[in-house]
Amino acid sequence: MTIKPAKQLSGNGDNDTKMTVDIELLKKYDQPGPRYTSYPTAPQFHDGFGPNELLQEIQTGSDTDQPSALSLYFHFPFCESQCYYCACNNIVTRDRERISRYLEDLKREIRLFSRQIHHKRKVVQMHWGGGTPTYLTPQQISEIYSLISQQFDFSADAEISIEIDPRRLSPEHLPTLRRLGFNRVSFGIQDFYEKVQQTVNRIQPETLSRQVVAESRDLGFDSVNIDLIYGLPYQTVDSYKETLNKVIDIDPDRLAVFNFAYVPWIKKHQKLLPAERLPGPHEKLKILKLVIEKLTSSGYVYIGMDHFAKPEDELSIALKNNTLHRNFQGYTTRAGTEVLAMGITSISQLKNAYAQNVKDIITYHQRMTSGQFATSVGFRLDEDDQLRREVITELMCNNIIRKSHFEKKYKIDFDSYFKHNLEKLDEFRSDGLIRDSGDLIEVSDSGRLVVRNIAMVFDKYLAQDARKKQPIYSRTV
Ligand code: SF4
Repeated sequence: MTIKPAKQLSGNGDNDTKMTVDIELLKKYDQPGPRYTSYPTAPQFHDGFGPNELLQEIQTGSDTDQPSALSLYFHFPFCESQCYYCACNNIVTRDRERISRYLEDLKREIRLFSRQIHHKRKVVQMHWGGGTPTYLTPQQISEIYSLISQQFDFSADAEISIEIDPRRLSPEHLPTLRRLGFNRVSFGIQDFYEKVQQTVNRIQPETLSRQVVAESRDLGFDSVNIDLIYGLPYQTVDSYKETLNKVIDIDPDRLAVFNFAYVPWIKKHQKLLPAERLPGPHEKLKILKLVIEKLTSSGYVYIGMDHFAKPEDELSIALKNNTLHRNFQGYTTRAGTEVLAMGITSISQLKNAYAQNVKDIITYHQRMTSGQFATSVGFRLDEDDQLRREVITELMCNNIIRKSHFEKKYKIDFDSYFKHNLEKLDEFRSDGLIRDSGDLIEVSDSGRLVVRNIAMVFDKYLAQDARKKQPIYSRTV
């Protein structure tokens, strides 16, 4: 098997990031599997965990001598129109009143959380996602932002990011965001090819995408991210090459190139896509190969699962130093924070629990006006879950397991505890995807491309999920 080498920033100052990809290997390991933004994953969340349990967990987190720092997430579900590929939790509306009412509830939730948070807890990260956060007017954005700043204490170097749909920006939006304190912007582009844009109901001229990135640079945002998707109808290797050339020319600091998850049984609007025009599995893997090889040979570091960054970006540096972490927003350098999430469907990530908010705005409104948290489902991790979560996180982010660390921390004998799981690693070992060296299990450069499959070996819930009628996870590559 020949996927090699993933030389990110080697210690001798060699910045060669180039990777080559073996399609046969990708094909062999292509199966449905979780993305592990959490462990256990969302299908395990249950309604035995509600507002009281969330409150308890928040208080436990605040009542220690050294409470952890905080990461805040805000969900703005509204969009002006529906992109047919979208798998986000969004609401399409042109009813501005509806948005205003939601924002009033969001303000209630911000106050509700902040009342429970120890005043010494610093916010080191904040992310606004959606939906389309910039579908809010600059005035609405400013109001929410100032309330958050009054209610929480931000560290001076907090990372403050927002997802932006370039089609929904007025001339005031970007300057307002910068003035308020946002320092990272993430633009959805998906694909430059017009035929693809028409088919997915997202017409976004190239000039507009270039213009918003240039303006962000002028305004001094620290980092610009671009999101692309591969696997959409009418995409081919050649068409995607063009899109990648244009994106490389735009020169973002980070890139996320997502694998299109075609799940029309969950997202009904995906039925509007011409299924017969979706690239077949082999074409799709060829596009993935193109993406990885082209971006890494253009100087981007492969961070892991869909993500690329420039060598000097903090994600690349964290990858090199084995300090990368992962939460619901993706890869992060802010390890050890608790994520407090507000807005419908959002998921809080506390030290030993997850809590997901209700999915509809009517129930959300009822909860907020009665002063209750909006939790609808959640999960409290037992010690085995915590151990497996850490193993999976280490694999997914830093590509290494140091057995002695887990033995000391969890008082186990690693090899006996994971006897049955470790047996399942044999095939990965014989394909050269992992290496054992004494205390260490390391994911090889080749193995990084199928790291979800390796992590799945340690997931004790997958057998239960497999019994469900419809696949609940997208494919791993
Ligand atoms: S991709 Fe973004 S803008 Fe399009 S429907 Fe989904 S959330 Fe809305």
